[in-house]
Amino acid sequence: MQIDTLLAQAGNRSDPRTGAVSAPIYQTSIYTHPALGESTGFDYSRTQNPTRNLLESVLAALDGGSRCCAFASGMAALDAVFRLIQDRPGKRVVVTEDAYGGTARLLDRFFRTAGLEPVYVDTGSLEVVEKEFSRGGVGLLLLEIPTNPLLRVADVRALATMAHRHGALVAVDNTFLTPYLFRPFEHGADIAVYSATKYIGGHNDVVAGAVTCLSKELGEQLAYIQNAAGAIAGPFDSWLLLRGLKTLGIRFERSQENALKIAQFLTGHPHVKQVYFPGLPSDPGHALLKRQANGFGSIVSFALHEAARLPEVLKKVKVFSFAESLGGVESLITFPKVQTHGYLSEELRERLGINDSLLRLSIGIENADDLIEDLKQALQ
Ligand code: PLP
Repeated sequence: MQIDTLLAQAGNRSDPRTGAVSAPIYQTSIYTHPALGESTGFDYSRTQNPTRNLLESVLAALDGGSRCCAFASGMAALDAVFRLIQDRPGKRVVVTEDAYGGTARLLDRFFRTAGLEPVYVDTGSLEVVEKEFSRGGVGLLLLEIPTNPLLRVADVRALATMAHRHGALVAVDNTFLTPYLFRPFEHGADIAVYSATKYIGGHNDVVAGAVTCLSKELGEQLAYIQNAAGAIAGPFDSWLLLRGLKTLGIRFERSQENALKIAQFLTGHPHVKQVYFPGLPSDPGHALLKRQANGFGSIVSFALHEAARLPEVLKKVKVFSFAESLGGVESLITFPKVQTHGYLSEELRERLGINDSLLRLSIGIENADDLIEDLKQALQ
């Protein structure tokens, strides 16, 4: 079955008793036992909940993995990934250097003391990553494709081959592209992780996360962690994600089309110094992303010539909302230095270009002309 059909029918036919088209929300924490030593298969909702299980099975199928676990947030999902490798031999975690700031904070502040050693590198360079692997002890390579907020592109297959040669697992934070545009397991990854708050939910009304594992063995370990640590997605949030998934494809088709138009508009603008969008043929990641993914996503970052103009742009936008997320139907404008990457060191931010003149746009499904007009007047 094609992905559009899987998405549109996400969660359907799950209730043969009534034939309900929309999946029921099992808003319950507990389940009655028929008799001593008997169970319906559901005992306690931290362990199993039919609505969450349904979402998990849909996401596992979309990724082509053996098992998915849904979490209370993208950070809880990443937390489970790091716990997954804690008992494995390699303790070094190689991460893309412009990863989401919260990912670095979680690793540095909590998992470093728990024995993991995060290493941040430019995962766009095979030589740089190979050098880290040759030092030994790497247990996990964590990639973002494309990276946030600079939209740099890594060669997932080449990196996964390298990681496996050194006995490490590969996780891809696929928040920006989702299985609709990129399927990590087809490129050698072992784990796919999501902030479902973004495109999977799609409406800026739920905070959630998910992790899918390719192997049954990892999937079982993940489910153990999900139950033991307990950061589960609730039934209503799971249902909102199932509903969001139904329109994921058409939302992306529209938002990507808009993103390209906006990137083209910004490219010619006199106040704009640089545009970061892999959908532009001139972007350094264009060819590599085109080879790996079915689209370029709908995040566009840009740097202004004059940083002093930035507060004014944020104040003047009327259609874009100044807010710190992405992936919803409505367009957002974000100041990454402060809102999403404040945790990174000043030195790293400056070197990468996450500075006082960088803005990130999450493009929604509005009319592209309205979005362009809005940016035009805000940049004036
Ligand atoms: N991964 C990426 C790439 C993100 O952009 C974010 C949040 O912005 C997260 C993970 C964390 O997800 P959440 O905010 O749902 O906890």
